[in-house]
Amino acid sequence: MHTPPAETDNTIYKTLLESTKAIPWKIDWASKQFAYIGPQIEQVLGWSQDSWKTVDDWVNRIHEDERERIFNFCVERSLQGEDHEADYRALTKTGDYVWIRDVVHVVRTPSGEPEALIGFMFDISERKKTEEQLLIMQKKLEEFSYKDGLTGVANRRMFDTVLEREWLEARQNQHPLSLIMIDIDYFKQFNDFYGHLQGDQVLKQVANTLTQAGVRAKDFFARFGGEEFALILPETSALSASKIAERCRNLVFKEQIPHAKSEVSHILTISVGAGSITPQQNDDLKSFVESVDALMYEAKRSGRNRTVVNNR
Ligand code: GH3
Ligand code: MG
Ligand code: MG
Repeated sequence: MHTPPAETDNTIYKTLLESTKAIPWKIDWASKQFAYIGPQIEQVLGWSQDSWKTVDDWVNRIHEDERERIFNFCVERSLQGEDHEADYRALTKTGDYVWIRDVVHVVRTPSGEPEALIGFMFDISERKKTEEQLLIMQKKLEEFSYKDGLTGVANRRMFDTVLEREWLEARQNQHPLSLIMIDIDYFKQFNDFYGHLQGDQVLKQVANTLTQAGVRAKDFFARFGGEEFALILPETSALSASKIAERCRNLVFKEQIPHAKSEVSHILTISVGAGSITPQQNDDLKSFVESVDALMYEAKRSGRNRTVVNNR
């Protein structure tokens, strides 16, 4: 069998190593000197091949925010004899940063000490850019999933989450929890007469107005659904809640939104139910919400444009 001379072998390997996108390198553990780094490094970071002399040239070109962490991580893993990889921003000659993924193999002496580190650096800037964009999109999606698309206030999902949290708080600390449910009067007639788009505008206006009703930091306002809104009032007594419910009604009335087809007023009005509870162990949140909803319907039945309160 024909065996090519070792030199030719090395030439092939060198050509292979230096023509890939991955940048090969080797550092001797004892001397902390670069034994080798691929010439491709200059295309990626701008620093010439021969500017990589000691491990310090590597360390100093890591973004200072992650320098210590990355260095300590690599030293620790190397001492354990474990192959590892690390992502970091590397300084370029022009002062910018490029995201690098460094994949490191630890060469060990027969007694297990690190002898050298051999690795490949990959330019992962594009991947990082995509990751960042994905994160931004993810955040937006999360925001969308908790915000009502039309009015911009919290949606039902958020309402459920917050109410459940406040319920547990109230039960734990034995504080009163109040809930206000709001429903626009004769809104179907409003849509029929003024059109659905005008209806949408009014929903926005009403939502925006009602965000002013609860003034404490923990007060929480949401669109409950359709033309119904809800206000969660933690650590709030029935008496305070009834005052805030009346404030809601007055705030909307003060907007003086014409409603020619309403049977209670020529101005747009709301019906409001307000309930309070200091939850006990055997109380049920769903039943509480239903009881407040029932109060709101009681306000409808008894003539609309009014508040009905209950407490226990
Ligand atoms: P009541 O005084 O008994 O509450 O009468 P109402 O007409 O307000 O009650 P109903 O529940 O019968 O109708 C609610 C209306 O609200 C019907 C629906 O078209 C309208 N609505 C619900 N969501 C929206 C929305 O996003 N935009 C618009 N424009 N209208 C909506
Ligand atoms: Mg309704
Ligand atoms: Mg209604």
